[in-house]
Amino acid sequence: MKILAKCPKCDAGLPVSAAEAPAAIKCGSCGREIPLAFSDPVRADRAVDRCPVCAGADFYIRKDFDPTVGLTVVIIGALISAAFYWYGRDLIAYGILAAAALIDLAVYGRLKDLTVCYRCHSEFRGDYVKTASSFDLHTADVLEMEYERRIGRR
Ligand SMILES: [Zn+2]
Ligand SMILES: [Zn+2]
Repeated sequence: MKILAKCPKCDAGLPVSAAEAPAAIKCGSCGREIPLAFSDPVRADRAVDRCPVCAGADFYIRKDFDPTVGLTVVIIGALISAAFYWYGRDLIAYGILAAAALIDLAVYGRLKDLTVCYRCHSEFRGDYVKTASSFDLHTADVLEMEYERRIGRR
């Protein structure tokens, strides 16, 4: 399992391999030492039960989506179809637009899920069984505030 640990101080994303399970990492951008506590299921890539960064046990699932990829497909599709439109081939133009939207959908459907920690926003990628539910704004509000108070940001 690959973890993107979020620095509590500056929010930088720090890649960590759960199999190596380091006891602490140092933030490359602000220099803060971040102690990590890996649970056995996390180390073995079986499940995300406890966050190694903040020790929280509340997670949500989201698609591992890079929004810029989807946007690029749509923009390129729009440019090509604009060219056809310019030459009076509107049917082809609409067809290309529709194809770009379909490609976008296909890319989205094939994306893997990843688990995110509600409190510190660390991300967990791997083959483990995803058991967390989808994002809930109310839960996020409550847990983020609790976490930020704990680390002294508020
Ligand atoms: Zn930092
Ligand atoms: Zn966390």
